[in-house]
Amino acid sequence: MSIQDNYSKIKQETPKEVQLVVVSKKQSIEKIKEVYDLGHRHFGENKVQELLSKKDELPSDIHWHIIGHLQTNKVKYIIPFVELIHSVDSLKLLKEIQNQAKKIDRKVNCLLQVKVAQEESKYGLNEEEITQVVEQINQNKFPNVQVKGIMGMATFTDNKEQIKQEFLELNSIYNKYKNELNFEFLSMGMSGDYLQAIECGSTMIRVGSSIFAE
Ligand SMILES: *Cc1c(COP(=O)(O)O)cnc(C)c1O
Repeated sequence: MSIQDNYSKIKQETPKEVQLVVVSKKQSIEKIKEVYDLGHRHFGENKVQELLSKKDELPSDIHWHIIGHLQTNKVKYIIPFVELIHSVDSLKLLKEIQNQAKKIDRKVNCLLQVKVAQEESKYGLNEEEITQVVEQINQNKFPNVQVKGIMGMATFTDNKEQIKQEFLELNSIYNKYKNELNFEFLSMGMSGDYLQAIECGSTMIRVGSSIFAE
């Protein structure tokens, strides 16, 4: 299947109200351009350096999402243009986003990354940290940040029941704060599990390899 076939298939399977972020990490400019030429504008990268160099070579109307762990010293490079930071996984990072956004008088959209997977390697806030962050949001500590929802990843496993439980856990955290904080986005679901994620209430999926693998 071509990139175009893969993309069309995913668009067909995805309800209109669910947003697709095409994950372009490790992909060439040419391949990203192919998806762009199909009319797609939302792309996600997990490394700041890679994002910055690609951004210069691609059309300026692309909306760039950061989906990977973000180091505080890299925040300043993306603040001027980033569409949505999915991976806020510490209070320290949120504070740095606030600092840098304030400097240029911008309001930056973010999601809180929540750890539900049973894996050491996955980043994210635990329940206690979420409570702490929400408290500080409510105290208006981050006037230059708009926290728009929750992002998470399921464990890398064939166990569909486990994946479902983890997605439902993310959904329940999303719903717990949805009204209080005006949440819009529950970002969950990747190539291997986006259909399941949508069934569990995802409003934003992040899909890479199943679009670019020909
Ligand atoms: C790579 C990545 C994706 C996309 O994964 P695929 O399996 O290639 O679809 C989604 N989210 C995050 C955080 C990623 O790092």
